[in-house]
Amino acid sequence: MAIQKTLTTAPKPKPTDESKLGFGKIYSDHMFKWNYSEGAWHDPRIEPFGPMLVSPAMSVLHYGQEIFEGMKAYRRKDGGVNLFRPFNNFERLNRSAERMCIPNFPVETAVEGIAELVKADKDWVPGTKGASLYLRPNIIATDEKLGVTTSQTYLFYIIGSPSGPYYANGLAPTSIYVEDEYVRAVRGGTGAAKTAGNYAGSILAGEKAHKAGYDQVLWLDGVEMRYIEEVGSSNIFFMIDDVLVTPKLNGSILSGITRDSTIQLAKDMGIKVEEKHILLEELIEAQEKGRLQESFATGTAAVISPVGKLGYRDKEYLINGGKMGEVASRMYDTLTGIQYGEIEDPHGWVYQVV
Ligand SMILES: *Cc1c(COP(=O)(O)O)cnc(C)c1O
Repeated sequence: MAIQKTLTTAPKPKPTDESKLGFGKIYSDHMFKWNYSEGAWHDPRIEPFGPMLVSPAMSVLHYGQEIFEGMKAYRRKDGGVNLFRPFNNFERLNRSAERMCIPNFPVETAVEGIAELVKADKDWVPGTKGASLYLRPNIIATDEKLGVTTSQTYLFYIIGSPSGPYYANGLAPTSIYVEDEYVRAVRGGTGAAKTAGNYAGSILAGEKAHKAGYDQVLWLDGVEMRYIEEVGSSNIFFMIDDVLVTPKLNGSILSGITRDSTIQLAKDMGIKVEEKHILLEELIEAQEKGRLQESFATGTAAVISPVGKLGYRDKEYLINGGKMGEVASRMYDTLTGIQYGEIEDPHGWVYQVV
């Protein structure tokens, strides 16, 4: 599908100090837009980034029929720009679309669209390692109506935000608090879809964890509240007895692309990996008996985020003495090495845009 381009005539000044970028606060010059109406996706295009005029009755504003993705464009040393596994992100967006009754789209056009956006805004891709142009594809229901039924029209758009490392303190280990009152997702719910409501519903528990002095929430399953699911909006890994374990995808956990990449890279490194149901009590027992060696969270935004402390009710458990573990460190170096084009890409994950 041909992508029309309308480039800005008023480019914005680019950030001069990349160390002060933060995460998701400023936006590049262009955006990708693609409309759905009368049963088809049409008019994929690049336009200047800017506010959108919407009806106060627009469906998504009331019932949250929305799905999104999180991706990044990485600057290589030779000046070119890489995407990482973009087809996987858009395939996942199509799976989220099915759950949220949003029409599927051709993945090839979405990849072409994001590549054209990155080309138009290539000067907005930061040059420092750890920084990137964070990319946010979003699909929203745009019918002007108040009925709780599926929309007949949608807007697919992608915006870019030059961002520094996700956590201000870089790879310093984070602290996580076991949430045993609120849940993120339930069996049969929308936990496996990247959709707005899951995140709106998680803010209260996040605030609670912050007030208790922790960085993130460790979510338990919504049925028995005994099994470990995710951390904040990242997947979670534990090294126990030299085996890398992570919760098995069960329909309420988001199937992370960083999670999948971590599993494959760990296997390449000769590390034994198990995807299984992990009981919180088993994890605490492993910690108390000294069998829990390290823990880290995975996600596009933070890549690998070591966990140094676990809080549960009135107890605190230090993991690996509160320090980043060896596997987390190797995984961070390998994954970012592939993403930034510094080391070999054995699985063909890198997609060179320019
Ligand atoms: C996006 C997300 C992840 C991580 O997925 P990646 O593809 O690795 O970025 C994990 N959990 C939740 C809830 C998410 O929204």
